[in-house]
This record gives sequence, C-alpha cells and structure tokens, in this order.
Amino acid sequence: MAGINLKEMLSKYDKNNLSIATVCSHSSLQIFNGAKKEGFKTLGISVGEVKKFYDAFPLGKPDEFFIIDNYKDITKHSEELQEKNVIIIPHGSFVEYLGAQNFLTLNLPTFGNRNVLLWESDRKKEREWLEGAGLTMPKEIKDPKKINKPVIVKYHGAKGGKGFFIAKTFEEFIKRIDHDKPYIIQEFVMGTRYYLHYFYSPIQENAYKLSKGSLQLLSMDRRDETTIDEVQRLGSIAELEEIGIHPTFVVTGNIPIVMRESLLSKVFKMGEMVVEKSIELFGGVIGSFCLETVVTEDLEFKVFEISARIVAGTNPYISGSPYSEFIQQDLSTGRRIAQEIKYASKKGKLEEILS
Ligand code: AMP
Repeated sequence: MAGINLKEMLSKYDKNNLSIATVCSHSSLQIFNGAKKEGFKTLGISVGEVKKFYDAFPLGKPDEFFIIDNYKDITKHSEELQEKNVIIIPHGSFVEYLGAQNFLTLNLPTFGNRNVLLWESDRKKEREWLEGAGLTMPKEIKDPKKINKPVIVKYHGAKGGKGFFIAKTFEEFIKRIDHDKPYIIQEFVMGTRYYLHYFYSPIQENAYKLSKGSLQLLSMDRRDETTIDEVQRLGSIAELEEIGIHPTFVVTGNIPIVMRESLLSKVFKMGEMVVEKSIELFGGVIGSFCLETVVTEDLEFKVFEISARIVAGTNPYISGSPYSEFIQQDLSTGRRIAQEIKYASKKGKLEEILS
C-alpha cells in the first residue's frame, strides 16, 4: 500500500501481545468474540461514547474502548494504536465510516489485502474481475430504451441498496430515474438469493486447494431487505406501484440459510475462480469475502456483487454454521480471522495476510 510500511510497523510490534481491533458496529460483536476465543486482547473503536449495549453482551464486548470524536480521526491516532499492537479487522461499516481514501492510507496493520478496494468499489473493475474469472453476472443494459424485461437501477455508491428501483419498461424507468446521479441498469435476475461467505487463506493448505493456499466456505445467508421482502403483505408490487408505493432494498438484517448440497461444487468452483483471478490482478483477495448471488430456475448462479471482507451476513453464526461445523465446532468467521492471525504470527507470516 502506498506510504504504508507494514514490515517496519510489524517489527516494532510485541507479537505476544497483539490486540484485535475494529469499529464498534456491523460484525464487531462477532469479531471480538472470535478474537477472545483465540486468546487475543480486543479493542473497540467508538465515536463519542462507549456504546452501552456492549455491557449486555460480555462475551462480545472489547477489553478496551478507544473513543474518538469522528471516525475519520482514526488516521490521527495511528501511532497510539500501533503502540497497543493493534491489528485492524475492517468490515463494511469500517470502510464506509472512514472513507475509501483514509482506509487505503491508514497506517495500521490491517487484515486482508486493501488493494481489493480499488477493484470492488468501481463497478467496471468489479465486472472485469468477476467476468474475467469466468463468473456470470446480470446483464447490463446500456440504453434504457432497450428495457424489455424487469431491470434494477442502481445508483453509484448507494449504500445498502438505498434508492435502487425496479422498472419493467422504458416508461417506468423515465418516471423514476434521477438523472443527476450516476447509475447503472442491470437485468433483474429472477431466482433465489444466496450470499456465500468464503474464507481464503494464502498460507494454509488444509482446505479446498488453490494454486496457492486454500479456500473454505464458512456459511451463507439471505439478506432481509425492507420493504421488498415483506411488501407482498399489502398487495402485489404492481398493485402498489399503481398507487405510488415503490419497494426499496434497504438491508435490515440477515437470515440463515443452507443450499441444496449438489450446488456446493459450483460454489467452490466460483470461489476458486474469483481468488485465482484476484491473485493475477492485485495479489489476491485475502481472508473473508462474500459472493452475492441469485440462483435461477436452471440452477445457474448469477453474481451481482462481491464484498471483499467480513459481511454482516455471518452474524447468525457466532457458534458455527451448518458448514463451518464440518471444519471445527463453534467456528464463526470472526474466530476464523483470529485463527489466521494467530497462525500467521506463529509462522512469521503476518505480512502475507495483512496490508
Ligand atoms: P446490492 O447493493 O448490489 O447488493 O443490491 C441490493 C439488493 O438488490 C440485493 O441484495 C438484491 O436483493 C437486489 N439485487 C441487486 N442486484 C440484483 C439483480 N441483478 N437481480 C435481482 N436482484 C438484485
């Protein structure tokens, strides 16, 4: 990473006294809980005040809170945090609150490969990566006049599906579109959604083998999105749209799910292709990542997004999932991350999993 000397930072660290840190939000309870299970100290970064609800969850509460005035200030406190031997576990909210640029230049050892952000946050590059890997993505419709089946319109940078809308015709598109914001139009894929939680280790060979390291599938979820997922309680979408009520795609929670076992080969093949391509493009997507997919009636996967770090969809699995139980009992993604850091530290390989 530009301006970051990981080797030098780590050389000053007390490796027997590492502290796992993240921002108090998103999947922090799981991250702290997993780190504690593996014997790490934990530090929670919080804005303004200690969040009181952590007291109600002692096994997910960090040992220490680090209070700042504003998330963007984390960069100013990096030396202080280095002295505490902190390793940052980034999650979606961490990156969002800090801002991409601050995250990329944050002078703290950070789990995973930060270069992935450049490929994940730019829709063109994301497509280049995923399609280049051989995955099928929903088709993009360049000319709205050519809309002849349901599409989903996505504004750039819209968080948690906010502002997305469905259109079935050009007329519907014109009625809803806000031309001031950049957007893309994507085929609305008919099918069932699965959000697949993988873990790629470049330094361990004890799972699904890749050209370097190995891949695990820790869990999967389906997002609960308001209002689309329950809008049918009031009537069909078509009926509601007629009276000006439009469904929205704002994530409010996550639901555990398993997939028919015969699809697992494809799930691993997709994970493999994504990792191999990432190694070629930018040195590899390290640790947790999630493919957001729709499975069609022909049992084909269409991948509409990748998240290259721990996703909140792993939160239902604090004490293991129907997949991670086949790896080790009680294995959450948060715990798996802590294990990877512990293993790398023991083998002198921290530089291979941090950036
Ligand atoms: P995203 O922000 O891309 O994760 O999308 C937000 C939500 O919109 C997803 O969780 C899905 O429910 C839905 N969605 C996104 N893209 C598609 C698509 N191409 N077809 C069907 N549903 C989609």
